[in-house]
Amino acid sequence: MRKSSILARNKTIAKNEKKHNPGESYALKNLQRRFQVLVQDSHDVFEIINSDGTIQYISPAVEKILGYKPEERIGKPAYELLEPTEKYKFKQMLSLAFNHPDQVVQEEIKIKTKAGQEIILSCDMRNKLSEPSIQGVILNWRVSSSDRNREDSQAKAPATLDELTRLPARGAFESLLSQHMAEARGEEALALIIVDIDRFKYINSYLGYEHGDQLLRQISRRLRLLCTDQVLLCRFSGDQYAIVAARGEGQDDYLPLVEEVLRLFDAPFIVDEHKLDISVSLGISLYPHDAQDSETLVKSAYAALLRGKAAGKKHYQFYSADVEHKNYREFLLRRDMQKALKEGQFAVHYQPIVNLYTNEVLAVEALLRWKHPLCGMISPAEFIPIMEETGFIVDMGKWLLEEVCRSHKQWQKEGLPPLKVSINCSSVQFAEECFVESIQAILDKMQLDPRYLIIEITESVLIDNAKKVIADLQKLQEIGILVAVDDFGTGFSSLSYLLTFNIDIIKIDSSFIQNIPTNKTSTIITHSVINLARELNIKLVAEGIESPEQLSHLKRFNCHTGQGYLYSKPIPQHQLAEIIANKKCEPQINAEALGI
Ligand code: C2E
Ligand code: CA
Ligand code: CA
Repeated sequence: MRKSSILARNKTIAKNEKKHNPGESYALKNLQRRFQVLVQDSHDVFEIINSDGTIQYISPAVEKILGYKPEERIGKPAYELLEPTEKYKFKQMLSLAFNHPDQVVQEEIKIKTKAGQEIILSCDMRNKLSEPSIQGVILNWRVSSSDRNREDSQAKAPATLDELTRLPARGAFESLLSQHMAEARGEEALALIIVDIDRFKYINSYLGYEHGDQLLRQISRRLRLLCTDQVLLCRFSGDQYAIVAARGEGQDDYLPLVEEVLRLFDAPFIVDEHKLDISVSLGISLYPHDAQDSETLVKSAYAALLRGKAAGKKHYQFYSADVEHKNYREFLLRRDMQKALKEGQFAVHYQPIVNLYTNEVLAVEALLRWKHPLCGMISPAEFIPIMEETGFIVDMGKWLLEEVCRSHKQWQKEGLPPLKVSINCSSVQFAEECFVESIQAILDKMQLDPRYLIIEITESVLIDNAKKVIADLQKLQEIGILVAVDDFGTGFSSLSYLLTFNIDIIKIDSSFIQNIPTNKTSTIITHSVINLARELNIKLVAEGIESPEQLSHLKRFNCHTGQGYLYSKPIPQHQLAEIIANKKCEPQINAEALGI
């Protein structure tokens, strides 16, 4: 059919409709009128923004709130009145809206009225570019409740809603989860995803709770983009969210959603003048595959989260209940561990810890190596978690300490200056009832002075079993052993434990150092930790220094001690002897270190 004939036909239909149904056109007009009155009298402002960001339409309420007449705003860029950081936030909203058509993107934006008063607007944006009658992005905004009277609005919040994020709170989540599982029973499968914000506690501690709250509100808004009939979002705990989704039975069915969650954190968050790069880690469990009841489903997702966190930040991890799901390599390692110890497949390598100003070697860190006959050299990051799970780490730890004592004796025999040696101890080793006594027994047997020993523990050790740990640490320190907190900044805990535990050394995690200076959050945190350690009179070691640039920033921050590939990789005992003899370990300013 030709175009003109379609038009002609449509005209006839419209005429006929008018003729046959005058009431309908009246109703339409009435509806339009009501819509106009609503928009004009509303305290909400409605805007339609073109794809290039200019305002196509703005409702008259703009004058009541900002003091500008609609004609002063139409045709202008929607973000024209905003300060740079708010402008950035607004542009991010636009880009989120472009990427998620039909989803509501929410944000709070600070703006100045024509009279110069600063107010906070609560904005909802929705991409309607493909809707022929609109062909734009709809923005709906009002003065934020946090700007009007927060207490008042909070008082009205139902108890099941979390006050800060307005999402279902933990209590409500548990009943919602059981409800979803009951509905899914026998038919559908679902997944529970726990989303944990990496390093949130540190942001809270360093930037303050006010900023922490702002960040949580922004994160909640981004996560809300995932919500559909099939996806439920709740606040699980302080810095954790829970997502319940029904997409299928297998892990693969949830990968697109997992990737969507991670992608939501690609763009930084703007909290006042801070631009924060935030990442999250996810733990996922599947119903009915991993658990039959809600409690086990939560536990499994949480266990997966912990495992994923141990592997590093920005990770997702599905729960896997049994050995069948783990790969063959892991099976091999598990099977061969005992034999490997008897057959001498393990070795200790040492990495120098250096004074960054004088290059003097102050101590060495002992790191375990496994040369497997089939798999070759295996990283401890791979086998330590298995050793912890099986409890084999306890025997391994004892072997390592004896080996360290032997090396120390050897260096002394060669007339080399005595150095402190740092060893890593996991929470499983600490859980041993006579942990301190067994260390003391080995030191006695090998005749090593305890003051040469540093024990590195992670933050999780401190939280897992606080009472015993406090007592054990005290006993270790009484005999002259120093205690270091390793991977500082990556754990779940808050800084308050630094007051409870008597820590000698903080080792700031390499992930912070390696992001200096490109990542602002890492740089701020590193600087603050260095200052904090100085104020608390705790020694600080920067881990994972790889580039001269990182080194010069650390020195600028007044950080005195560090280790990393820039100085030396972990090396076997005989190679280290040369370095100890020189007493110095210079930074290797070569092409590799410079990243060329
Ligand atoms: P860790 O205690 O944080 O040790 C530092 C890790 O960073 C070591 O990895 C080291 O080789 C690596 N490293 C040092 N400098 C740099 C650098 O500049 N860049 C980079 N990218 N990496 C650097 P390694 O030896 O693979 O050990 C991994 C983890 O395994 C250790 O992390 C520690 O948690 C654990 N581990 C190693 N040996 C033992 C042990 O005897 N007992 C226990 N419980 N855990 C151990
Ligand atoms: Ca360590
Ligand atoms: Ca470390």
